[in-house]
Amino acid sequence: MDPVGVYIHIPFCTKKCNYCDFPSYPGLEGIFHSYGEAVCLEIERIASEYGNISVQTVFFGGGTPSLLPVPILSRIVNTLMQRFRLSEDAEITLEANPGTVHREKAAAWRELGFNRISLGLQAAQDRLLQLMGRIHTRKMFVESIEILDKYGFHNLNADILFGVPGQSLEDWLETLDLLLQTKIHHISAYSLQIEKDTPWFKLQKKGELPYVDESLEREMYYQAIETLKKFGFHHYEISNFSKPGFECRHNLKYWTGKPYIGVGAAAHSFIRDERTANITNPALYIQKIKANVSPMISSEKIDPEEKLSERLILGLRIIDGVSMLELEQEFGPEALDRHRAAIERMEKRNLLYFDGDMLRLTTIGLDYANQVWMEFL
Ligand code: SF4
Repeated sequence: MDPVGVYIHIPFCTKKCNYCDFPSYPGLEGIFHSYGEAVCLEIERIASEYGNISVQTVFFGGGTPSLLPVPILSRIVNTLMQRFRLSEDAEITLEANPGTVHREKAAAWRELGFNRISLGLQAAQDRLLQLMGRIHTRKMFVESIEILDKYGFHNLNADILFGVPGQSLEDWLETLDLLLQTKIHHISAYSLQIEKDTPWFKLQKKGELPYVDESLEREMYYQAIETLKKFGFHHYEISNFSKPGFECRHNLKYWTGKPYIGVGAAAHSFIRDERTANITNPALYIQKIKANVSPMISSEKIDPEEKLSERLILGLRIIDGVSMLELEQEFGPEALDRHRAAIERMEKRNLLYFDGDMLRLTTIGLDYANQVWMEFL
């Protein structure tokens, strides 16, 4: 089996942010311990099912993994290391909320083997952070970076949001500027979508959420590309920028169709051409694992046609594009022929272009990526 990426989902947060529809829940401190034990048991089961798995990347995401007490985190990391074969240069990421970073924790994380921290900043203005329902301030973010740097973390990501209700272009430029002044090596800049079943969705329906102008939202994106490029950040994926050599190796696995194993409530896996998903509710997840029942709630075999569509869609998220030669070698020329007419249509509309055998989104294509994906479905 190809080396895999492992994703561990930690579905706990101190407080729910107003825009968030991720599977994460506040007030579940009482089940932290049993959740950690369940995750360890699931790792052991996966290891006995698949044998000696070679792992190149590990990503603790959530939720707020940095909220987990160190002994629980340590149990999970040790189980991973005992049951899987971690490469010596494995990228091991922990997502952290700046409101939860302390010296003792940072020292312990480093000791456990984490070598990349992904911090959720979202915005540099306390007024916006408060509106979003975030638990941290700008100052806490800056202090987190200082602590993490001091304790030996030299691969740091910050997540930021644009198109946020009430956010001006000046606010956005100030957020970028803050990151350029700190020791950040990677930036994920996402356009905020107001998702169903969130407090902001309800406010929007009542007409009580400030309107986000679409052209302002696009302007923020272009400004990010231009500004970050000037300061040595490589725009390598639609929403991701990094200093050379600091691309997120774990997420690159998703975009290039490589296998990954998800552990924990709501975690997804893609392995041996099968996609599976675990039950979302953390308490039910624990119950199932304890009862020796699989936590999986769905599984789907991906046929070659679907796999090729996904490879095109995900591969085009990468700015360098997707190698048509590689796809042809893997899937055969006939399979690719089914997409040629759509590719030509999109070339004519200036959404896609070829650079050698690499098929890429154009600058206009970056704005209309959803339309491109639809053509490949
Ligand atoms: S911290 Fe992240 S996962 Fe938790 S509620 Fe906020 S946005 Fe969602």
